[in-house]
Amino acid sequence: MNRGLAVLIRVLAAGADVLWASSALDIINVPTALRPEVLALSPQESAAAKNCLHRACIFRQEIRASSGATTLPLLILPEAAPSIRGCCLSCGAVLRAGDSWRCILCAVAVYIALDAVDALLAHLEPA
Ligand SMILES: [Zn+2]
Repeated sequence: MNRGLAVLIRVLAAGADVLWASSALDIINVPTALRPEVLALSPQESAAAKNCLHRACIFRQEIRASSGATTLPLLILPEAAPSIRGCCLSCGAVLRAGDSWRCILCAVAVYIALDAVDALLAHLEPA
């Protein structure tokens, strides 16, 4: 898994908050012990984390818009091409070995949008 996503998962699971309404999608209240990990991210790793947060924000809006429905929406990005076999259900990217329905960016974003990021901790390698 991209180190940016792994750090994002650890930071959120440790109690950091996402400013969902912010256009920059900032994360606040990063635990002090994890700040060095955040600061050590490369620009590419940081961009992956921000991209994932951006997707989570869109998915969260879809979930909120479906409030009262008996099922969750499929969580598809507005710009995604129609889903075809072998491509991410949410964004249309070609799936990689080990991906099932969604690419890793969208899969992590779904967990973040559902406030279920703790469930991903077991899938991370030790920091
Ligand atoms: Zn995707």
